Parts: sequence; C-alpha cells; structure tokens
Amino acid sequence: MFSQGRSVPAFGWIGRCCALSNLHPRAKVKKIGMISAPERKIRQTGCDVRFDNLTRQLYATDASIYQIEPIGAAFPRSAQQASGVIRAAADAGVSVVPRGAGTSLSGGAIGEGLIVDFSRHNRQIVELDLEKRSVRVGAGVVLDQLNDFLRPHGFCFGPDVATSSRATLGGMIANNSSGAHVPVYGTTADHVISLEIVMADGRIEKIGPGRETLRAEREKIDSRIRAHVREISERMPPGLLKRWPGYGLERFLRAPNNLNEILAGSEGTLAAIFSAELKISPLPREKGLGLIFFASAGEAMQATVELLDLRPAAIEHIDRPLFDQTKSQLLFQAARDLLELDAKPCESILLVEFYEDVAERLSILQGRKLGLRTKILTDTAQMNLVWSVRKAGLSLLTGRVGAAKPVAFIEDAAVRPAQLPEYVRGLQSIMKPLDLEASYYGHAATGLLHVRPVLDLHSAADLKKFRQVADQTSALVKQFKGSLSAEHGVGIARTEYMREQLGDELLDVMRAIKNAFDPKNVFNPGKIFANGRHKIDNHLRENFTRPLDLPFEPRLAFAFKDGSFIGNLEQCNGCGGCLKQTDIMCPTFMATHEEVMSTRGRANIIRAALELRVNGHDPLRSAELDEALSNCLSCKGCTPECPSNVNLALLKAELMYARHRRDGLPLRDRIFSSVDLLGRLGCVMPSVANASLNFRALRTLMEKTVGVSARRSLPHYTSERFDRWSAQHCRASVPDAVAFHRNALQKRGRVILWDDTFVRYHEPHIGIAAFKVLEALGFEVSLVKNRECCGRPAFSQGNLDAAARAGKHNVDLLNSAGSQLSSLRSATARQATINSQLSATPILFLEPSCYSMFVEDYHELKIENAESVAKRCFLFEKFVDDVLAQEPDALQFKNGPATVVIHAHCHAKSLMNPAFMRRLAERLPGRKATVLDTGCCGMAGAFGALAEKYDLSVKIAEHLIDKIDNQPAGTEIIASGTSCRHQIIDLTNARPKHMAELLAEAIV
Ligand SMILES: Cc1cc2nc3c(=O)[nH]c(=O)nc-3n(C[C@H](O)[C@H](O)[C@H](O)COP(=O)(O)OP(=O)(O)OC[C@H]3O[C@@H](n4cnc5c(N)ncnc54)[C@H](O)[C@@H]3O)c2cc1C
Ligand code: SF4
Ligand code: SF4
Repeated sequence: MFSQGRSVPAFGWIGRCCALSNLHPRAKVKKIGMISAPERKIRQTGCDVRFDNLTRQLYATDASIYQIEPIGAAFPRSAQQASGVIRAAADAGVSVVPRGAGTSLSGGAIGEGLIVDFSRHNRQIVELDLEKRSVRVGAGVVLDQLNDFLRPHGFCFGPDVATSSRATLGGMIANNSSGAHVPVYGTTADHVISLEIVMADGRIEKIGPGRETLRAEREKIDSRIRAHVREISERMPPGLLKRWPGYGLERFLRAPNNLNEILAGSEGTLAAIFSAELKISPLPREKGLGLIFFASAGEAMQATVELLDLRPAAIEHIDRPLFDQTKSQLLFQAARDLLELDAKPCESILLVEFYEDVAERLSILQGRKLGLRTKILTDTAQMNLVWSVRKAGLSLLTGRVGAAKPVAFIEDAAVRPAQLPEYVRGLQSIMKPLDLEASYYGHAATGLLHVRPVLDLHSAADLKKFRQVADQTSALVKQFKGSLSAEHGVGIARTEYMREQLGDELLDVMRAIKNAFDPKNVFNPGKIFANGRHKIDNHLRENFTRPLDLPFEPRLAFAFKDGSFIGNLEQCNGCGGCLKQTDIMCPTFMATHEEVMSTRGRANIIRAALELRVNGHDPLRSAELDEALSNCLSCKGCTPECPSNVNLALLKAELMYARHRRDGLPLRDRIFSSVDLLGRLGCVMPSVANASLNFRALRTLMEKTVGVSARRSLPHYTSERFDRWSAQHCRASVPDAVAFHRNALQKRGRVILWDDTFVRYHEPHIGIAAFKVLEALGFEVSLVKNRECCGRPAFSQGNLDAAARAGKHNVDLLNSAGSQLSSLRSATARQATINSQLSATPILFLEPSCYSMFVEDYHELKIENAESVAKRCFLFEKFVDDVLAQEPDALQFKNGPATVVIHAHCHAKSLMNPAFMRRLAERLPGRKATVLDTGCCGMAGAFGALAEKYDLSVKIAEHLIDKIDNQPAGTEIIASGTSCRHQIIDLTNARPKHMAELLAEAIV
C-alpha cells in the first residue's frame, strides 16, 4: 500500500559508533572507532541508515531541554524496511526510538539507541472514504498536510496541535495529542480506526476493533486491566477531558479488546506505528471568536468556568508574559493591532470560539459583560491572526531575551476546568516563595494550562528551584486528581513522577502491557517506567551544564534582540517551526526534508561544534559545520518566522568571519565579495566581457577553478552604465557627493536613488524606469557619487571587515549628502509630503538585499551613525506606494486589463509584509495582482551560481517555477530581487520585471 521509493545515500563520513551493551535496566553506550557488529547488521537491512557524527548530533535533541546522543538514525520507506531495521536493532541489543518531527517537549523523541525517523518518507495519504468518513495516512504525514488534503472535500482531522505545521500523525497518535478544540473533537485517540504497527520482533500487525490480530497479547492485557477496575476509577476519575499519563487503561475499559486505545498515548514504548486509518470530521459550517480582556489571570480562570455552559468549541487563555513577546515582531504586529494591546493594555485574554449558533452565543457572551472589554470576530483572516499568537505561544515565550527562559517541565498538567481557579492559586503559591515568574496560558476549556516558570538552567540555584517546582507540582496535581502529562507525554521529564501519579498497582498493569508488546524493552527504554536513568534533571542539554565558550571575539552586534552570538544561538529551543512546508523558513528543508537543512539542524550543529562534539573537535571547521553552514542561503527567513527569532544568517556570517580571520579568506570568497569591482571591469569593454561569459571553454575553466557552475547564465555587462546615464540625464552636477537632476517638477523635493551594483552594471533599464516613476511623481532624483557597493556580497561570504569598510564609507557619504540635501530642500519644504517626517533626504532602493544591508546589517556591523541613515531608507516600491496612498492621483496610469503576479524577495519579506505590493500593482487600472505564496528563489546571490549548489538551488526553486509556469500567457511576472529574476530567467521562459518597470510602462 505504501510504496517503496528511491533510496537516499547516507552522508559520506562515518563517525564513531556505539551499541547498547545492555538494554535494561540501565542502558549503556559503548563507543568504538570502526563499524560495529550492530551497525553492520542494521545496515544489511537495506534501509537508509546513518551512523555518522552529523546524524548523531542532529538527532540528539528534540524540542525538550534534554540531549542524548543516539547511535544513528534510520529512515524507513516501507513497513518491511521498518520491520527489518527494528528487528536488526533488537537482535543487536540496540534500543529503538520511533520519531516524527521531534517536537516532543518531554524528551520523548530522543534516546541512546537507533532513532527510527518516520517523518522523512512515510507521507502518503490514501484510501479517503467520504462516506465512511475515514482516511489512511503514513506515520510521517504532517497534520497541516492532511488538513490541506481534506479541506477541499469539506473535512478535517479534528485534534489540532499547535505544532500542526510539522507534527506527524505518528507522533500525534503516540502522544495522544490534542489541541484547543477538545470540547468538539476530543483527543487523537478518539479518531483512530486501525493501526499498522511494527513490533519489536519485526512483526507487522494491523490492530483495531474487530481485528483478530495479537489475540494472546489482547487477552493478557484485558485480564490485567479488568482486575484493576477499582484502582483505575480511583486514580483516573471522570471529568478530565485530556489524556492520562501512560497507556489508555480507562479507554480500554470503555472499548474492550481495542488495542488502539493502548497504543494511542504509548509514546513509542510499545511498538512503532507505520500507518493509521483515521476518522475525519466535517469542517465547521461557521466560526466566531469572542475575545475577553481581563485585569488578571485569576479573573480569566473564573470566567472560563462561567462560560462552559455556552458549549464553546474552545476557550484558550493567553497572558501578558506571552503576548508581550510579540512586541516588535513583524509577524505578529497585525495581531497586536487587532487586539489593541498597545492602546488598551490588559493582563490576560480569553479566546472563546464557537462552531454552532455562532451569532446567538457570541451575543450571550457579550451580554455577560465579563472582564475589562470584549471584542467579537467573525472574519476568518482576523480570527487566524489571533490564533497565530496562541499557536506560537510556547516558542514565543522561549524567545525571551536573556539566559533565563520559560522552561517546559510542568507545562502539561491538566485538572478539571472547574478546578482551574483553585489550581492556579496552588501553582502561584509554589512559585511565589521561589520568586518565580510564569505564564499561565493554554487550553482553559479543558483545564490545561501550559505553565512555564522562568528559570536560568545554566545556574545551580535555578536548577534547584526547577526540581522543587517539579516535585511540588506533581504533588499538587495528584491532590486535584489531575493528569501530569495531558498532551506532551511522560517522556524523560515526567517518568520519575509516574509512581506518585499512578501508584504501584497501575504501574504494574502498565508494565505487564509493556511486557506483552515489547518483552525485551527495545522501544524507548527508561521512559514511563523509571529505571533510575531518566530524571527530570538528568541529560540536560550540554549548554546548560557546560556553558558555551566562543573561540573568537564576535564581530556582530546581534542588535535586533539578543545582543550576543550565544544568546541568539540558545534561542533555538528545537520547536521545529522551521520544518514547515510554507512561507520562507526554511527553504533548504522544504526542498530536501533533511534535518541538517533546517534552521534547527544548523543551530544544533553550531552548538555541537562549540561543544566540541564534531569530528576533529575544531569549533570553526569540521565536515558537520560545513554541511550545516554551506547550504544556508542567508535568506533571513528564520529571523521573522522563527518565533524565537533565531538569526542563522548572522550566526553563519560570524562563524565564517571567525574562520577567515584564523585561516585566511579563500580566493573564491574574495572574488564573490568583489562583484562591484567585477562590474566596473566588465563595463570597460562589455562586448568582450560578455563574449567571454558565453565562451564555453572559459566557463568550464571557471567551474574548475572558482566553482561557478557552467550551467548557470551569468549577467551580461551593459554598454551604458546606469550612473553614467543618470549623470547625462541630469545634465548638471553638484560638487562633493551628490548629483542632482534639476527638473522643473520639484514639488516633492529630492530623493536619492541607490544605484546598486546590478542596476549600475547590468540592468540600467530598471534604474531608468525608477527615474521615470519618481520624476513623474515630482521628485528630483539623484544618485550618490563615489558610493561603494553596499557590502552585501562581502557580508554573505563572511568577509565582514570588507562589508564594514564599505558600509562606513556609504554611511559617512550619505550623512553628509543628507544634510546638504536637507538644506537645499528647505526651499520646497512647504510642498513636501512624505519627506516632511524625515530629517533628511530619503534614500530609495531597488534591490531588497541592498536595502536590508542598510537598514539592518550596517547596524549589526556596529557602523557609527548607521541608524540615522537607516531611518531614511525605503524600498522603492514601499516609498511609491506610500506617496500614492496619500495622493492616489499623483500618477496617471494607462488602463489595461492584465494579470500581475509578484514574487517578493526574502529580505523584503523579512522586513515588511509584502501585501502592499499587490495594492501598488492594483493601482494600475485593470490590473489584478497576486503576491505569490512563494518562498526563496534558491539563487540567493552567489549561492545558486556555485557548481556544487546548482542542483539544490534548482530544487529550492521548484515551487516558484511551478507557479510561474502555470500562469496564463500574458501574465506580468514581477520580481524585484536581482537573484530572483536571474533564477526565473534561467529556469522558465518568463521575462520577469522589476516593479519599477511595470509602473514606468503604465505611466500616461
Ligand atoms: C511549540 C510546541 C507546541 C506544542 N503544542 C502542542 C499541542 O497543542 N498539543 C499537543 O498535543 N502537543 C503539543 N506539542 C507537543 C508535540 O508537538 C506533539 O505531541 C506532537 O504530536 C508530536 O509529534 P511529532 O511528530 O513531533 O512527534 P515526536 O516528537 O517525534 O515524537 C513524540 C513521541 O511519539 C513517539 N513517536 C513518534 N512517531 C512515532 C511512530 N511512528 N510510532 C511510534 N511512536 C512514535 C516518539 O517516540 C515520542 O515518544 C507542542 C510542542 C511544541 C514544541
Ligand atoms: S530555529 Fe526557531 S523555529 Fe526552528 S526549531 Fe529553533 S526555535 Fe524553533
Ligand atoms: S537564513 Fe534562510 S536558509 Fe538559512 S537557516 Fe534561515 S531560513 Fe534557512
């Protein structure tokens, strides 16, 4: 049913390998320097398996605070391969950790044995049966992927984990995951019809109601559970809407003989799930969201109880520690505005959602006059904005600046909703004497608050508090007869509390179940059943117990948020947000599905390098670090999209710089840093230069010597440089820095147009088009004389001194030019519109990557006065759109029906919402514009031109190319990034334009 595909070769180097000498009670890792017998055995199965050091470091963490290095990872494509590899591991005495996206917060997805990663290949969705309301999925299918598939049919998979963009159905079943809408949908276990599982001895079995499989195991389990009914009802009394820790004993009692109930929630300790037949639900016909704002979390808890009679689909709570993290975050600004958080401050908010009789229930909710104020939303886009804040909750909190972070360890306890006010008071009385701050957010309707005390796990004093809070919370939850792990699993974090929570009697029942399925303790040993190995404060990530030490003096400021290299690196908490398949972060993961190609993978490898866990122990140079860094496009997608704002582009630039300082700048990096110089040279005799770029033998030589792919076209040099055209066009020049065009139409004052390297030497027509638009608007346009390249190419190569030199030169020049222009402009000050708010002349950019250099990276390079220049910088399109927003008739455009599609540059998207580009294009009468939901083009400056990156570059571009190829003939393709246009031209028949060209051509 699930097909076998092409096998992917393992990475080239094989590092240390190790085997479990003894599976239990105390698993031990034996490390030897050559291929071990277990490894050989596992390899012989034919499954894609990797034992190299890179893989071991990548799979040593999940989204928890724990770190355990496995012996390797396997990536099965079929149930047979999974069976082979699991049996081989078991025979060789190696434990097995099934894994999905690794978003476990409790350490469930890590272990010392073999990680069997089901997320890579098993992503097939088949057997959709709308009548029966069922579908079959591979264990690696991601929840968003399933819902995208079901939506056109009017259905969805109900349980909605916040990690829906990457959490796999295998992981969701194993954790019996659920989300905000438990009141409507219940938990994942409620939706399992049948499971295809792989047992520790390699048997592949199908289980579920009515199936005769595993009869002996079923009978054994049935009799053990039935013998303990009283203890089960005593320990697991009704009223709890989420899951209990461990196996679903109470569910099995309600559905005898149904082994699904035992497997769902078993956290990969019984068997591996390969595929599942699932129940699906019709999409809600309508939705409405009532927002209630409170002065305290306590009031919100009380209000939750008072709202339950309205039978909401969800009541979610968010509080100030959480929504304060959205401040200055581009991604969440629209949500902040909608919630009016700045204008009308509050301490906590309830999100109350209804699926039925929406208008009526929302009006009752409003009539109850709870809290400080209410807001009613029925617009889908607005509701999604608010949900996006809630969904990013956990990662937003961990994105807090500084060493102390909100830590996940008591974040998964649930009580009955009516107990919430008292439970919260209990928690507060634990935190207060320890002087601990915490956020209380989560699923109020189901009594689950994700409470995360803020602790610095690098500090011994806070580690002590960590344990105290954990111990006391376990006791508190027991007092309420609640569940210590209601969604996220027992894993490593909560195993030591299982005896207190479940008692010896129920733990014995569970042990018997474990024994029936997995007598040799192959799957996830030491979890759920304490063997002394997994304690809440064991196996902490190494950077907590041994602070990271940088072998270099950082050059960059990490100014946006953390103020330090390590601060930014430690922002990565492993949440897996960068494993999603949409938007910008992370293009290389989207193209390859390889962990090392994700932002998380890169951050983990940088950490491993600094912790000397890489081959050769050189923190600056190792095969692992090369693999992680060399494929990063520096697209900046992670900065705005990672909820903790990990900035891999900066981390990469800093590490490359440290290498260059120590080992010297390689010739290739030197050449790529100097594209402006190459432009100047190429334009001396453009026909000769262009002929040589087309000369096959020379291109082959270039590929062999500097690694520029012969398959890539290279931009041709122009016979009329843009700066020279401009000088001629303006006919007059002003001494010193700036040349002006003295146009009769000076009513709006002056602007500086930044003539970037590409416009100047390769695409002057774009600059000319920009001149036309700006002059038609009434601006006096000037270029900066003696400017240097913005430094982006050098920055991308980690040639930071060169980038800083160029930046300083430009900033000094523009500061002097600005003041001069400013005084000249004063004559027309009365007529100034957009200029009036600026201290000096605006500087407009046609190329987004130059713009981001000025507004962001000069500041990172600690260039003096960079801020004052940055304030005057605008992306050309944004500036024009702002002017037209103030004066819609400032330009007259020709009418002409046309479709316009816009591919926005990653750097532009990292700094602003590109939606304005659609508005701008639609200012042209008759045009229907769309901003494509495309990510990175894959070119990223020099990256796509490299021979060794060509295939990856093309693969990354696939989605974009697909979109462009599918546009109807005559569609205008707009791409304002030079690299993006280059990639589109190389891979399609389209001829993309800059927005300036579209506007200029349409001017009447
Ligand atoms: C920011 C954040 C928010 C979260 N929000 C929620 C939430 O709203 N609701 C919720 O329920 N959880 C939540 N979680 C926890 C986690 O995302 C979910 O439990 C998710 O379902 C795990 O899926 P995964 O694919 O990442 O599994 P993994 O983390 O890879 O594995 C989880 C467990 O399942 C086992 N497992 C994985 N695949 C298999 C398989 N094929 N066969 C057998 N066992 C397997 C693993 O051994 C492990 O014990 C959140 C986590 C984070 C980081
Ligand atoms: S890089 Fe960001 S999104 Fe990715 S795992 Fe780390 S914190 Fe999460
Ligand atoms: S900069 Fe781009 S390619 Fe690099 S890790 Fe971030 S999102 Fe991925």
